[in-house]
Amino acid sequence: MSRILIVEDELTIAELEKDYLELSGFEVEIETTGDKGLHRAINEDFDLFLLDLMLPNVDGFEICRQIRERKDIPILLVSAKKEDIDKIRGFGLGADDYITKPFSPSELVARVKAHLARYERLVVSNMPENETIEIRGIKIDKTARRVFVNGEEKIFTTKEFDLLTFLAQNPNRVFTKEELFREIWEMESIGDIATVTVHIKKIREKIEFDTAKPQYIETIWGVGYRFKV
Ligand code: CA
Repeated sequence: MSRILIVEDELTIAELEKDYLELSGFEVEIETTGDKGLHRAINEDFDLFLLDLMLPNVDGFEICRQIRERKDIPILLVSAKKEDIDKIRGFGLGADDYITKPFSPSELVARVKAHLARYERLVVSNMPENETIEIRGIKIDKTARRVFVNGEEKIFTTKEFDLLTFLAQNPNRVFTKEELFREIWEMESIGDIATVTVHIKKIREKIEFDTAKPQYIETIWGVGYRFKV
């Protein structure tokens, strides 16, 4: 649930904003002085700030400036005067939006929602992407260790996943069963290379349309296997 901090010295307005935002499912806190509001804004985790401009102790301009130095979450400034809004624009304080009193509660809620959604998209697009291998309908998400075949997730055991990933990362190369066994099971033993055959069979059942005519993992008779690209 998104948390919103309202800094507003007129309690009736603050309560009105709070009521409407809570009705829309937000968790809302109120501070009525600039210094307390600034302190909480900096030290607590909120998802959006709704700041009145004319406040006791520290005004909204200063709060906005100080928050922006530390955080990039949405800041919506609220003012009673159109002139103040013009001033804010001129200052370039980094506020995301400006609302003039009196405002309609539904407009306030709509703007809050829009800014939260925009911010979430921004955060998501900045997250590092998972390392994936994609080959003709097969997607191997190495980071999450998940495999998708034509968009449908298939459940792989650890060794099946490691074997498929190893072959897919080295496409068109033929590996002997001994090589694969050493690579995946990390043992020098050649006693259990039948394990490789069993695992290849299980992988094929999950990724191949027709296991009798494999399109991905080919058997090279007398040698081993290769992932065909
Ligand atoms: Ca005020």
